[in-house]
Amino acid sequence: MSEAFRALRLTKSDEGLSSEFVDMTTDELMEGDVTINVSHSTVNYKDGLAITGAAPVARISPIIPGIDFAGVVETSSHADFKTGDDVILNGFGVGETHFGGYAGCARVSGDWLVKRPQGISAAQSMGIGTAGYTAMLCVMAIENSLTDKEGEILVTGAAGGVGSVAISLLASAGYKVVASTGRASEESYLKDLGASRIIDRATLSEPSKRPLGKENYMAVVDAVGSHTLANAIAQTRYGGAVAACGLAQGADLPATVMPFILRGITLHGVDSVMAPLALRREAWARLERDLDLAKLDILSHTHALTDVPELAQAILAGQVRGRVIVDVSK
Ligand code: NDP
Repeated sequence: MSEAFRALRLTKSDEGLSSEFVDMTTDELMEGDVTINVSHSTVNYKDGLAITGAAPVARISPIIPGIDFAGVVETSSHADFKTGDDVILNGFGVGETHFGGYAGCARVSGDWLVKRPQGISAAQSMGIGTAGYTAMLCVMAIENSLTDKEGEILVTGAAGGVGSVAISLLASAGYKVVASTGRASEESYLKDLGASRIIDRATLSEPSKRPLGKENYMAVVDAVGSHTLANAIAQTRYGGAVAACGLAQGADLPATVMPFILRGITLHGVDSVMAPLALRREAWARLERDLDLAKLDILSHTHALTDVPELAQAILAGQVRGRVIVDVSK
């Protein structure tokens, strides 16, 4: 039976990109073997790029953007899911080449879904969202290099989504976290999440004159790329590890091989979009176990679906602190 719902729809035309809220029915959804009543979504940096058209994230037109969502299975012909299951979707091209999370209903392949851990509510799962799940993947990538509790771990893009969740996870595990931010006004927020000290991101964002710097950090979670990542690599101590997941400063990496060949640094690339299901399930199980939900409350704030276009502009302008939960019913 066809069901009606509201959606944010993006359309490309000769005049450019336009977004509008429309009423749709499940008949208009794309192919998939699981139909979900979506309760919550979120706004990630990538959603900001898609909705504003700042980068060609949306590959089809029209599209419902939104790279992740949480909801309850309405109908399923997939062996792993049945009506009433609580599910989460992150990535897999949803919101890029397939209708996404800014809608009351979604239809996707069951191969893309993860069952929501019962210790995390639907709203909390989108408070975590793709940014938080990526932060977990970053922590999992570097954790073999976290050999002592005295060494410091650098988190860049600290007041953003990936950064905020990474700080919470690492600080709760007992590590000393250095938060790099351009927003000095967020010092008390970052300390509440567990950062032991704050540095100005300007100290990392300029071209470096030297291929190797002081060995300041045991490991790094970098959401920023470009000179920031190059400088972070150059300041990682012997045998340390860097997880690179983002490009908020830029997609370039103006570095040398010196930290790799003289200090044995490991650079881990972290991708959340096509990460295999086994890794996703592990990441979500770890988030249920390790993320302090009181800290998640500090770093997330709830908005209505109608606020999404405005939030898309704000996240690209670096004005969104932490994570956004979108209540799709509002
Ligand atoms: P946010 O916008 O929430 O956070 C990004 C943060 O980066 C900002 O809050 C700001 O932190 C910092 N920043 C912004 N512009 C600059 C700049 N010019 N120079 C230095 N720092 C800057 O985004 P998310 O946390 O959601 O995502 C962070 C990055 O990770 C994005 O590039 C995103 O595309 C990427 N990403 C990648 C994923 C993957 O699968 N690899 C998945 C999820 C995200 P502050 O204000 O503290 O300085």
